[in-house]
Parts: sequence; C-alpha cells; structure tokens
Amino acid sequence: MSFLSSRVKNGIKKAFHSCRSSARVKQLMDQIDRARRTYYTPDDIDTESALVISDTEYDRLLSELELLHEQNPTSITADFLDTVGVEQEPNTFPKVLHLTPMLSLDKEYDEEALRSWANGEEIIATPKYDGLSLSLIYESGHLQRAVTRGNGKEGADVTPNARMIEDIPQQIPFAERIEVRGEVLMKRKRFKDLLEHAVVHSEELPKSARNLAAGSLRQQDPQITRDRGLNFRAYQVIYHGSIPEGYISISDAIDFEWLKYARFKIPAIIHGYTMTGVVTEAINFWTKQRERYSFDIDGIVFRISNRERQKELGEGRKYPRYAKAFKWEAEKGTTMLTGIEWKTGKTGRVVPTGLVEPIELSSATVKRVTLHNAKNVVDNGLTPGDKINIQRSGEVIPKFLGIAERGPNTGIDMGQVPTRCPSCGYLLHWDGVDIVCNSTACGARARSRVIHYVQTVKMDGIGKGIIEKMFQAGIIRSAVDLYKLQPKDIAILPQMGKRSVEIAFDAIQSRRKIKYSTFLAALGCTGISTGTAEKLAEKFPTVERLLSASISDIEKLEGFAYTSAQRVFASLQHARDFIEQLCLEVELEMVTQTSSVLEGKTFVVTGSLSRPRDEIKELIKTCGGQMQTSVSSKTQFLVAGEGVGAIKLNAAKKHGTTILSEDEFFQMMP
Ligand SMILES: [Zn+2]
Repeated sequence: MSFLSSRVKNGIKKAFHSCRSSARVKQLMDQIDRARRTYYTPDDIDTESALVISDTEYDRLLSELELLHEQNPTSITADFLDTVGVEQEPNTFPKVLHLTPMLSLDKEYDEEALRSWANGEEIIATPKYDGLSLSLIYESGHLQRAVTRGNGKEGADVTPNARMIEDIPQQIPFAERIEVRGEVLMKRKRFKDLLEHAVVHSEELPKSARNLAAGSLRQQDPQITRDRGLNFRAYQVIYHGSIPEGYISISDAIDFEWLKYARFKIPAIIHGYTMTGVVTEAINFWTKQRERYSFDIDGIVFRISNRERQKELGEGRKYPRYAKAFKWEAEKGTTMLTGIEWKTGKTGRVVPTGLVEPIELSSATVKRVTLHNAKNVVDNGLTPGDKINIQRSGEVIPKFLGIAERGPNTGIDMGQVPTRCPSCGYLLHWDGVDIVCNSTACGARARSRVIHYVQTVKMDGIGKGIIEKMFQAGIIRSAVDLYKLQPKDIAILPQMGKRSVEIAFDAIQSRRKIKYSTFLAALGCTGISTGTAEKLAEKFPTVERLLSASISDIEKLEGFAYTSAQRVFASLQHARDFIEQLCLEVELEMVTQTSSVLEGKTFVVTGSLSRPRDEIKELIKTCGGQMQTSVSSKTQFLVAGEGVGAIKLNAAKKHGTTILSEDEFFQMMP
C-alpha cells in the first residue's frame, strides 16, 4: 500500500529522470513517503523500505520540501504536499465539506523566532494536544454535525459517535449557526488502563493515546465510542450566522469565555502581550507541566488573539499567519552504559533497559534508557562500558540511538542477553526481535491476570500492591487461590495491620457471588471483553454449556466472526481447569428467564427513567425480550424516558418502531 497515487509516482519518475538539480526534492518525497507508510501501516511495508524517524525530523523534511516547492513550484510537489496533509480516513463514514477549511499550523522550534513573530501582539497560548481535531456545527442550539479534520477541506461525518462524548454539549445557549472546533482526546490514565486490558485479552495494542482516541471515534457502534471514555477540549469558535445583539467576538480571549459559558471544557490558557514575556512564560510553564498533564501534549499553540489583526494577517496556502505551533526539540546526549536490566512483561516479552551514568537531558536527570528489544542488544553488541547516544523527547524513559564509542569489554560475553526468564526461570526462546517466556505459570503474566480478575469483579480493597505482596510471599498463583486464603495467611504479608487484613479478607469474601457475565469477563480469556461476555452469557446460560459449545455455536452469535469464535473457543478450553476450580469457590448469579411475555420482542431503552436503565434492561431480558443498542428496522419497541433525543425518536418513526412511555412499558409486564 502506498499513499501516493500511481499517477503521482509516474510523474515523479518522469520529471526527475533528466533533472539532477531536483534530486533533493525527490529524495525528500521518498523519505517522507516511506516514513508515513512506516508510521501508518507498519505491517504493509517491508523492512528495507521502512523508515523510522522522529516527529521533529519528519517535520524538518516536510518544511524543507515546502521551501523548495515555494522556490520552484511544480504540480508534482504540489500534489505530493496535498497528499501528505491527508489523514487516513476509512471510507465507512460519509465525507462532508468543511464550511471553512481546517488548516494546520506552521511549526516553530526556536523560541527567539517565535518571540519576533509575536512581537507587539496580544497573544493567547494553549497546550497543543496530541489528539484529533473535530468540527462541531450547532444550529438552533442543537448539535447538528461533527466532522473530523480529514484533509482540511473535507472530513468524515462522525456525528453519532461524537454524541457519545460526554464533554460535547448536545445543546448550547445560542440560536444561530455556529461552529466549535476542538480536539478529541483520551486521558493518559485511561489509555494506560485500556492498554492493560488489551494486554490481558491479547488484543492488538494501540500505539498511543492519540491512536486509540482516533480508533474510538471511528467505531461503527457508537456504544463502543461511549465506553472508551473520550474527552473533548474546545479551542475555537466560528460564527457562520449573524451574531445576535449582546454577543461580541472581537478576540479569541473572549471566545474562550463564551465557550466556558456554553459549558464546553477548554484548555489551560496563558494570555498576555509579548512585552510582558508571554512567549517565554508559556514555554517555561508547559515544558515543566507536559509530563504531569492528564493528556499528551506535543507543543504549544500561540495565536494572535485580536480578530481584526487575524483578518489583516490572513491565511497562506496551508497555514494561517496569525498562529504558530511551538514544538519541543528532542534533546540528545552521550553517556556510558553501566548495565542491562531485563524484565518480563505481561505478555511474556522480556525487555531490556539500559542503566547509564546519570546525564541531564531536557532538564531531567536520565539514569535509564530503553534498549528497545533483545535483537537490538545483540545486533549492537551492547556491553557495559560502551558509550551510547541517547535521545529524550518528552517521554519518561529516553531511548537508545546508537553506539558512540566501544568500551573496554567489547566482545566479552557478560551474560548481556539472558537465556532464562528473570521472573520464573523458564527457558526463553526467540520470537522475532524479542526473547519470550512462554510459561503459563510465569509470575509476571499470572499477576496481571489476577489483577484483571480483581478489577473486573470489583473486589474493592484488594489493590495491585497487595497482589504483588501475595505473589512475592508465594501464597497465591491465581484468582482461585485468593478464595482459599484465611486471615492468618494474609497477616504474614509485610506492612499489613490487623485492620488491613480484615479489609482484604472481607473484600475477597464479598465476591463469592458474581454475576455470570462478569465472571466470564473476569477470566481474562482472549476475545472475551465485557460486551462479548454478556452475549456469551445470554446464549450459553451455564458454564457447562459454554465449555461444551463448539466454534460454530459461538460463531452464530451476533458480532462474532469465525476467527474471533475460534480464539474464544481456544482460550476457554485452555482455561478449562482454572474455570472449573474457580466455580468451586464462587457462586454464579444467572440471569434466568422468569417469564416469556416479551419472547421474540426487541427493545431499545433511552432517556431518563424512574429506575436505572440497567435494571430495566435486566427486566426485559428476564422476560425473554432482546436488547439492542440503537434503533434500526429490527427494533420493535423504543422505551422512551424523559429527555429522549430527537434522533432516536425520528429513527423510531422512520423504522415504524412503537414508542412506549415508561408507564406503557410496565403495562406490558406480568
Ligand atoms: Zn517467565
């Protein structure tokens, strides 16, 4: 797969065949194309053409190409520059033109240059979020449309999904047509939790919070978007209709006030004039804050606040002239490798961390660097005593770049690469670039499974710390062992007072009764998440029936393809002993059908009702009815509580779905 059309590619070949002076342009386009493919579709690119470069380097290449294009514009470079500005959008969402183009920002790495650009202006500085830009259109006070940035001119209409983001108000106190732009984000903490979940379930790991946020916004099922817990931060207002009396929009600073009033969440702001040092203040502030921030930020946005000044300066072909994005340079350094530490991860991968002579990089003392993987250690012949080049660009642990100078121990086998698992002692084997521990009893993997179990069944009072201590003391190996613990067993753990022992013991005992579907989700079996667990529990109402289900039985369930059914089947069979032992310890609460008055009927429940929605859903299920997540032609009844959305009502009318009030619904019940 390539991001360049064959027309552009042939064009490149022809145009540069006889033109040596443009060799640099060709080289730049080639490198940019390879770097993009490596970044976006790493699985589709062969190792020879793969090109891993930092964001800083990538931006540099792009700036150089833009400069050369300005000096000597050709249709080929113009096409190319247009292509690389495009975010990859799947074709499943309708494409929509933006009312005004969503331009990207010109980048600046140099504080001095930034200060001279901002000289004498009123400046507003906000963090540059590493998320996804989204445009929201409101009409008559209601959210009408949400569109991704796309190529800046045209984006994907993701309105149903945007409605699932809590920070996006469905209604605003403004009657005219208005556009609010902002960034869709995922909190770092949330990303870490979901990453852990993916590890336990052996799902594909998202690369970054941005990556996961992007994937979550482009789901076919809006419920998934909701479950991911995305955030939205608004940063720009565009008035498309007339501005009513009493409203003023003379600067960004005032627009931010309005955004707050309309109940949007906005970023932290530093507002002031260059003569009072606003540029330096903002850079110092966010350079210190960036690692502690709840979201990933990769720079600072500086905007000239005054609307008249913005109009005067205008917009260039790609960037507005009244805004700049400051980006941090990645700082490099050279230091001595003093040792290599190996650790078994949750998936069994054993990863190396380099211990180095302490060195200052980007105002932090660096003592550890990531050495990436075992193959990297072998290929570079890394040996304690070597001088190595390292780089830090915002991340907590900087990374190894290459060898600067060989040390005195070069060539000596000092046991740099272990042959046995540092966690369980099992023999390691190579898998691609990694050494891997395949032992199912490996402590590192077992720990993460117990933690997953405890979190899923909500065994409040048993934290990661206690589980770690239990493993170290050798009193548990799996969730089954938890239930076998007596208070006296827990009391041997370090720093556990009498009260803590009681709390821990009670927490475990309180989870001897578990909802069947929760139990299935807690097993940590590949392919069984909370959502799929419910479907499995519904179809196979006992553990025995689930364990005797065949692949094709599972495949018949909604949302299962053959491969996912196969994975669920295999992981259940693999965990059979564990499941059977666990069943001896816990009592499962089944959702039993008590009546069949709703047999064969399909429901969607919405709006606020007199009791929790989950309770009503449960009630429908126990009476034989089926729940659906959104109104479609297959929906027979929409139970509509207070404040039901117009979209759901319209969909119900369109599909001939019967709309029931809460009272009408309860009249159907036995
Ligand atoms: Zn191991």
